[in-house]
Amino acid sequence: MAKKPYIIALEEHYQDPEVKQLGAGPGAGHDVVERLDDLGALRIREMDEAGIDLQVLSHSIPGLQAVDAETGPPLARRTNDRLYEAVQRHPDRFSAFAALPTANPRAAADELERAVTQLGFKGAMVNGMTNGAFHDDKRFWPIWERAAKLDVPIYIHPALPHPAVIEAYYKDYVQSHPGVLRAAWGFTVETATQGLRFVLSGVFDAHPNLKIILGHMGEGLPFLLWRISHGLRATMKEKTFRDIFCQHFWITTSGFFSDTALTCSMMEMGIDRILFSVDYPFAENLPGTEWLKTLPLGPEDTEKLLNGNARRLLKI
Ligand code: ZN
Repeated sequence: MAKKPYIIALEEHYQDPEVKQLGAGPGAGHDVVERLDDLGALRIREMDEAGIDLQVLSHSIPGLQAVDAETGPPLARRTNDRLYEAVQRHPDRFSAFAALPTANPRAAADELERAVTQLGFKGAMVNGMTNGAFHDDKRFWPIWERAAKLDVPIYIHPALPHPAVIEAYYKDYVQSHPGVLRAAWGFTVETATQGLRFVLSGVFDAHPNLKIILGHMGEGLPFLLWRISHGLRATMKEKTFRDIFCQHFWITTSGFFSDTALTCSMMEMGIDRILFSVDYPFAENLPGTEWLKTLPLGPEDTEKLLNGNARRLLKI
């Protein structure tokens, strides 16, 4: 029998008890809450059942992006310290992305450095917006500058759309189809917009080593690369949108187990840019790893998707 491949998953969420008490957790159904709260036996059992060897843990939405500039920095230190302890209890099963107090960008940059250099974290995850601002805004650049200097990626994760967007785009269907705000559509539009804005902002010219991860198969951007690049060709002559995206972005399969979407992403970006993830506990582990078994990939590409790309990007 062939040896089971080593599987790393890197959009795998939990919630910190203190952040949860502040109301900065997702407030989802009981099954999900129980799993978000667990960093021990239940989580590891469900990893084992699906053959997942390592989870890179990150705080669930909205997390510290919902916390103000004064509360954020000390809370981030306590939150990341508790996450570090959880990783230390199972160092062969868990690794971590830092939670950053983005409302205070200088403190967030310092906390990222502390988490990477002292706690061994692999980068950071940010959820949605901070106080209604997209994270490409110049006020946040000290964080991205530090990430580039530390050579760690930033995982840009969805959160609920801006209230004005909900009002203008979704309110007619929120009651009948609450998912429209989240995984079905709102998350995707919000996060794809964030990714697009990072490119338009010029942050990658200022910090050429900045690395961004997008979940959910790149939030639709790989499918749209041709059209976005074409639409921006008049103002992006030297480097196209595609050039910048394919140089600075990696994507994961979190919550998006589709052969056709994966094939499209591979054709646009190449397999070296695509990493397996689940989005636990919002998606279940087993459908993710069962899907992997059906993929029409050769052994080298499978190895890259399941662990090789993550090892290289996160230095695991
Ligand atoms: Zn997620």
